[in-house]
Amino acid sequence: MDAQQQYSDGVAYVGASYVPIAQAAIPITDWGFLRSDATYDVVTVWDGAFFRIDAHLDRFMHSCRRWRLNPGLSPAQITHILTRCVRMSGLRSSYVEMICTRGQPPWGSRDPRQAVNQFYAFAVPYVWLANPQQRESGLHLQVSDIQRIPAKSVDPRAKNYHWNDLTMGLLGALDAGADSVLLVDAAGNVIEGPGFNVFGVKDGVLFTPDAGMLEGISRRTVIDMAQSLGIRLELRSVPACELRAADEVFLSTSGGGVLPVTRVDRQTIGSGEPGPMTRKLVETYWAWHSDPAFRLEIDYTG
Ligand code: PLP
Repeated sequence: MDAQQQYSDGVAYVGASYVPIAQAAIPITDWGFLRSDATYDVVTVWDGAFFRIDAHLDRFMHSCRRWRLNPGLSPAQITHILTRCVRMSGLRSSYVEMICTRGQPPWGSRDPRQAVNQFYAFAVPYVWLANPQQRESGLHLQVSDIQRIPAKSVDPRAKNYHWNDLTMGLLGALDAGADSVLLVDAAGNVIEGPGFNVFGVKDGVLFTPDAGMLEGISRRTVIDMAQSLGIRLELRSVPACELRAADEVFLSTSGGGVLPVTRVDRQTIGSGEPGPMTRKLVETYWAWHSDPAFRLEIDYTG
């Protein structure tokens, strides 16, 4: 592998150096690894520009405060690091992750306040949660009986790596032949899935859960698009049976934007093809990527 290809596979910022992604490593004793004691955010680069980076940085700083983590960097300094990772990779579309871990307290101490928090970042090629065929025909989701960890245990609005519930749900769904999974709350309302929020459409009205989940930036983009397109939107509890009876279902995620769902459990959604509102939102989502208000251009020459 030549030097440029090492970088085009991705670039990481670790220990204040920029390295090819394959060489990036963190200390095994970092509580980020030992205890999932970390927070993160993912911003995308599309056609040479960050999309809604301000919203991602705001959420990242909020998540850090919520978990009493300090990245030791301002949003402007983080933007500089992320830009440099993308520039060194040369990637025009990229999945860019920023991470703050607890680090490691002095040996023998179990006091998280004594740990020196660490900041890491990386840029890799854009990650899609659905392959081209799934984007065209729609995903098949299984509603799991696994409950998403309750908000009173782990605040879902602060991004975290408490993913065992999501991962076990995903494994169950994949074993059953579905493409992905939705977790529920104690009352059987759908909450979210591994890396995405969920929306339904019934009689021209859009609806999405209002509690218990991460407030995705793509979810916010869907909310903003609904407002701009004059679509009625309800933020409320969504029982699984209501989702199965919807005319349309789709996911929102930084890993591909608006992704159609055409089957939930054994139920075909609508006509079995991505519906008109989903298609309109997919189109608008990508059109908004050209709007200068949402773009921060990357200087690849610096
Ligand atoms: N829900 C969870 C648990 C997630 O991890 C993510 C993204 O990683 C989302 C929802 C979607 O958030 P966003 O739209 O900001 O990508």
